[in-house]
Amino acid sequence: MQCERCGAGPSGAELFDYCGLCGQTLCPYCMAAGCCGQTPAVSGRTEDLDPDDEDRER
Ligand SMILES: [Zn+2]
Ligand SMILES: [Zn+2]
Repeated sequence: MQCERCGAGPSGAELFDYCGLCGQTLCPYCMAAGCCGQTPAVSGRTEDLDPDDEDRER
């Protein structure tokens, strides 16, 4: 996996985030720089905040 914007590769086992709008894999720097008109870019990993998760048993 590497950044589709600047081509940088992850250091170590670090996983890149991705744009929640276009799905491009972006390194932390490109996420901060923005994508799809959003600055910083919309993270594709924020789905953890889905309120439907409250239905889960703990
Ligand atoms: Zn990048
Ligand atoms: Zn994007």
